Amino acid sequence: MTNTTPQSGRLWLVSNRLPVTISETEDGIDVKLSSGGLATGLVGLHKESGGGWIGWPGLATDSGELDQEIVDALAARDLIGVGLSVEEHRKYYQNLSNQTIWPLFHYFNERMHFSDEDWECYVQINRRFADAVLAQVGEGDTVFVQDFHLMLLPQMLREARPDLRIGFFLHIPFPSSELYRIFPKREELLRGVLGADLLAFHTVGYVRHFRSAACNALGLETRTSEVHVDGRKVQLMAQPLAIDADTWGVGSEEDEAEIAEYMEYLKHMAAGRKIVLGVERMDYTKGIPERLRAFKELLAEDPSRVDRVMMIQVAVPSRAEVHDYMKLKDEVDRLAGSINAEFGRPGLQPLHYMYQSVSPQRLRALYRAADIGLVTPLRDGLNLVAKEFIASRHQDDGVLVLGESTGASWELGEAVRVNPFDTHDIVRNLVYALNMPLEEQQRRMTPMRARIQGSSVEKWARACLDAIKASHSTDVRPAPMLGKAVDHLMDQLVNCGDGQCHLFLDYDGTLREFTGKPLDATPTPEILELLANLSAHPKISPWVVSGRPADLLHEWVGKTGVGLVAEHGAFVRPAAETNFRPLFDFVSDDWRDEVREIFEHFTASVPGARIEEKDVGIAWHYRQADPILGAWQAKELFQHLIEVLQDQGVQVMRGNKVLEVRPAGINKGNALRKILRDGSNNNDLVIAAGDDHTDESMFQALESHAYGILVGNRPSAAAFRVDSPAAMRELLTALGASSCTAKNTDNQ
Ligand code: UDP
Repeated sequence: MTNTTPQSGRLWLVSNRLPVTISETEDGIDVKLSSGGLATGLVGLHKESGGGWIGWPGLATDSGELDQEIVDALAARDLIGVGLSVEEHRKYYQNLSNQTIWPLFHYFNERMHFSDEDWECYVQINRRFADAVLAQVGEGDTVFVQDFHLMLLPQMLREARPDLRIGFFLHIPFPSSELYRIFPKREELLRGVLGADLLAFHTVGYVRHFRSAACNALGLETRTSEVHVDGRKVQLMAQPLAIDADTWGVGSEEDEAEIAEYMEYLKHMAAGRKIVLGVERMDYTKGIPERLRAFKELLAEDPSRVDRVMMIQVAVPSRAEVHDYMKLKDEVDRLAGSINAEFGRPGLQPLHYMYQSVSPQRLRALYRAADIGLVTPLRDGLNLVAKEFIASRHQDDGVLVLGESTGASWELGEAVRVNPFDTHDIVRNLVYALNMPLEEQQRRMTPMRARIQGSSVEKWARACLDAIKASHSTDVRPAPMLGKAVDHLMDQLVNCGDGQCHLFLDYDGTLREFTGKPLDATPTPEILELLANLSAHPKISPWVVSGRPADLLHEWVGKTGVGLVAEHGAFVRPAAETNFRPLFDFVSDDWRDEVREIFEHFTASVPGARIEEKDVGIAWHYRQADPILGAWQAKELFQHLIEVLQDQGVQVMRGNKVLEVRPAGINKGNALRKILRDGSNNNDLVIAAGDDHTDESMFQALESHAYGILVGNRPSAAAFRVDSPAAMRELLTALGASSCTAKNTDNQ
């Protein structure tokens, strides 16, 4: 497919693997679309939008090139193939994806193998996918990227096309940030995925872990469901993958006949015994040996159980070429053999072990015939088998025994929960499940089925797409405050009629350059004269809005006639008044001792850091610390404070080389709103200038026609920027002069 006439608003799905099986027949290449699961749910969506699905079609070649015949056959189905060579498939897919990210994200860090060579290949293949996507997308299109193979893709797309709507879904767990930090390319991977507008996960737990990782590894600012990066907000969402519940209900006549036949066979094999069912890929995350050991213990505890219970374990072959998986298979084979050897007798096998995949009809028969679904992975992003088992229970009977380390356990609260690492816990709960009266089985099963009924992959995908649309924001950098922008500002000042110009100026880094020691940053005569000039003019009401304490502001700039806002908005002294007063009602400061103790702890390990006690806040400065140590510890401290101070009604603010804790709601933005509410009218011109994160709240508080001016060059809510405090002073001097002209003009 070539993109000769780009349409807009199309959907492009991207996954490592295209949902197809390709075979060569006498008539040429045959492309079969996979049925069920993600494939069926998603294909309709991209077709409906006129987009396509981009991925590897499943055939690795020596060169990595795809035959034209395959490309054409795929294109006929709106699929775009990305070719991989055998070598690339090994490094990018088998190694970096399956033997590095997969084990680490599933908490099997000891199985993680990392090599630079594999990583480079991962980067390169992500780049190839990016090129393939970029060759297709048009303006206003949406790209929905699936899973851990393509975590760098969102950022690659964002850099090339900031206008794209990009979503990413992680189908595996996102691990605790403590574990994530082990990954040697942790920053790169996070930055890669943060190129998206929306990051979706199966559970809120994964969202929380991701947020912590973004905060810890990259020092980014986060909210409950947002990460702020490069001036953009990346939305985080928990949206567990759904199943097509209806497909597990009553099937076609033909299917039902096959299901009935296989159920008959299973019931015959069970010969009156209850059936405990396990179904999964042969993967070390799935806890198959642990489960078989639990079954063994169940029988060992009471050998007569062999006449009342049997187990069927389906283990679908997976990644069988990988050493760890071969070892796992050996272990499971041995365990299965030992159970039957120890507890079986002629004609009565306790364990029916199937190392194979089963047809969809047989799988449905297994789900229906089983009395207990035993789903105990050691770690699982979600686990569809648990949902499928529930969806298949037409009589609302049967018991789901579910491992608590599955993502699905968040949704399936009525299941019998077990710790999959604790054999005794599994046995105890299996006994409980085996003896559960029908009434309790139904009481648990009915609400779970109701929750799943009506769900579909398509609805899940639509919810994700709606969220991508809603969260799309572009990276807007402030425009330079030069030329026409300055002229326009001057014009507005001159022509503001009976209005006023409210000018809110941050001090450090805005009016005044930083100094090594904060107390050395006293105002220069130039600054004092500038402020005095500004306040002398009747059209301008200048304010210095600072994080500094009230008495210091008074001492430094108190005689220039400007209004003062101290401690980030906690105290205010209008130009006409002599005393500071609190701008907001204060809440308790019970938190202060705890925060001081934490600050002291960090100060002890960061030479040069110091604590500043303010009237309402307490700050930790690290300007004089070693820059690397200081920044690193500040990141740790920030994260620690956020977690420790949850629900205490305080906020942790990051300024330039300073962290500050103070009551929530006190910030420069709210101060600005309050001052304007009390003393401005519609004709007034509002200008706010600042340099650091604490000034962003001021920029955000501005109405669209007001002027936010950032001192520096980074993404910001300010519409304009100047390069340095010197440039800011120059602009202010011009403002003062222009207003004087205006006054003179008015007076003539
Ligand atoms: N499944 C399959 N073939 C089989 C047995 C199971 O395709 O022989 C399907 C099963 O219906 C389920 C999926 O494999 O949809 C397994 O998904 P799950 O989330 O449980 O684990 P994953 O393999 O994705 O880690």
